Amino acid sequence: MDRRHCNRSNISTCRLCSVGMLEDCNHLFFSSPFSARCWNKIGIQWKLTVDLKDIIIHARNSFRGPAFMLIFTCATWHIWKQRNDLVFDREPYSFRRWFICFRQELVYHYPKLKENIRLAISDWLNLIDNSLSYSFFQKKTLMKAWTSSQLIC
Ligand SMILES: [Zn+2]
Repeated sequence: MDRRHCNRSNISTCRLCSVGMLEDCNHLFFSSPFSARCWNKIGIQWKLTVDLKDIIIHARNSFRGPAFMLIFTCATWHIWKQRNDLVFDREPYSFRRWFICFRQELVYHYPKLKENIRLAISDWLNLIDNSLSYSFFQKKTLMKAWTSSQLIC
């Protein structure tokens, strides 16, 4: 985050890891263990390449849920907020808090969405909420079944 002048603490290593990784966009938002856990929870898979545009296009094409860009931006925003809470407020980051904030952010957008999109996101969130005890394979199978019967945005 140095290049974007977002690093006010003069620390360029990732604060979400304890292994001294450089905190760049790819690491922070896509490959860090914390962000990987977030993406896994919501079923977004990243094929990390050099070009950010290609990374996002691949993820969008493989995503089996509704409103990819809205979900992607809300999830990314709250990964960033978890990082900033730690860096600036010394508040420990939390996967559970990330998910609650991510979910609330999506619901906050409901009034601006068409009804069919809102219902698709609501159904998708219910599936995600109820998938805590499912294995990743089972969750993917459920999401595949869900997408075959719902509108994809
Ligand atoms: Zn990290």
